[in-house]
Amino acid sequence: MQPEASKLPDSQTEQENIDAAVIWQSVYDTLSRSIPANFFNIFFDSVKAKKYDGNQLLLSVENDKIVNHLRNRYLDKIEEAASHTAGKSVKIALLHEPGQVEPARESLTAAAPSDLDKISINPKYTFDRFIRGPSNEHAYAAALSAAENPSDYHNPLYIYGNVGVGKTHLMMAIANQLIANKPSYHVKYSPAETFQNELYDAIARKSVNSLKARYRNIDVLLFDDIQFIAERANYIQEEIFHLFNFLYQQKKQIVISGDRPPQQLATLHDRLQSRFQSGLIVDIKAPNFETRLAILQRKASEMNLSVPMEVHKYLAARFTQHVRILEAALIKLQFTSQLEKHPIDLQMTKIALRDMPSETIGQQVSIDEILRVVSRTFHVNEDEIKGSSRVENIVLARHACMYLAKNLIPTMSLKGIAEAFGKTDHTTVMHAEKKMMELMDKDNSLRVQIEELSNELKF
Ligand code: ADP
Ligand code: MG
Repeated sequence: MQPEASKLPDSQTEQENIDAAVIWQSVYDTLSRSIPANFFNIFFDSVKAKKYDGNQLLLSVENDKIVNHLRNRYLDKIEEAASHTAGKSVKIALLHEPGQVEPARESLTAAAPSDLDKISINPKYTFDRFIRGPSNEHAYAAALSAAENPSDYHNPLYIYGNVGVGKTHLMMAIANQLIANKPSYHVKYSPAETFQNELYDAIARKSVNSLKARYRNIDVLLFDDIQFIAERANYIQEEIFHLFNFLYQQKKQIVISGDRPPQQLATLHDRLQSRFQSGLIVDIKAPNFETRLAILQRKASEMNLSVPMEVHKYLAARFTQHVRILEAALIKLQFTSQLEKHPIDLQMTKIALRDMPSETIGQQVSIDEILRVVSRTFHVNEDEIKGSSRVENIVLARHACMYLAKNLIPTMSLKGIAEAFGKTDHTTVMHAEKKMMELMDKDNSLRVQIEELSNELKF
């Protein structure tokens, strides 16, 4: 390969610059592990990444002997590592560019804590406004302790759970509490994606050291959605590991959130994995019915919205996974009620939320499956459920089936459901649902049982 100096464009686009720097950084990190350090430093430290155009990575070196040596000894390795990083075949062009002046190396000076960091924190996300329940109380307690005694506490604290269950809320609650109680603390809320972009950017601008200085100067790091960087190149994860390690050794509090436990982030760096395993790992599950109800009531009152109990119950039963959807439902109701100049009621709710996706995840639940799980749980056989016996436990199982069918098979009409259970009248299903709701209100263990069945059917 004979690169030509004349092909070097005068003005490179910023993106090309960034891409080149990013790929080179990764190549550099990869090869530093396989080439003995004394050779490596001599040959690789003086390389500058100039441009990446999607096919070719242009590198420049001042010293012609080094250019030759790289070309003869290491070109294949560099190409292989670059192709690996880019996910496609990358050709390397080596350019001898004498007489460049080295930019002065940045010093690792500490940057002042920035008020800018506080802007990214939503003041509404406080511990006060976080509704507790069995699904989240461990995470709540752990987050509160971290806010009250940062660094004395289990470090790092890793909180995981599905989208919309309150991870970011808890992280920002830590931040808000610290801003109020320990104003001298430098608290940094950093979504993993933002951190990654800052790092890419710093690499391109050769200002990685000042980025590091900024991060190393913080007292509490809140690192949100780590799953974003689990898929990223090793060297990004290495940087994060070093940062966490530094903070950890300085006894600074680190809180991390992710959508899965660390051991399930398959591509997460081993060293990060073991760092997390050594701290405290807590999860947040989807809230149960009572918690959903409490969240709805709290949000409605914060919105100054008058919502009848039966509407809250309808919403809590219909939306079971994400708290965010509960909020969206209330906002939609507020809007509809203002538009129609009519107070919120169940009928309005059903019409207004008609188009909101029901959260039945995965494939459609079938009547047969409902029969199977209910028959197993209630120890009543399927024929009895479909028959007309009035024996109490058989009636209960039948009602449970109809209730589940009505809530889990939105495409099925009431008449259709009635017929599937050998009845002719659609009001049978309405009656069954009403009965079940009353029973579940009185008997919490029945509610839990039905919720578990419902979750089993949905997944
Ligand atoms: P995640 O980060 O887990 O995806 P968020 O923290 O962004 O979820 O929560 C989504 C929305 O639901 C936010 O508006 C948050 O305030 C609200 N929320 C979640 N859990 C609770 C809770 N237990 N109490 C009150 N609000 C909650
Ligand atoms: Mg979040």
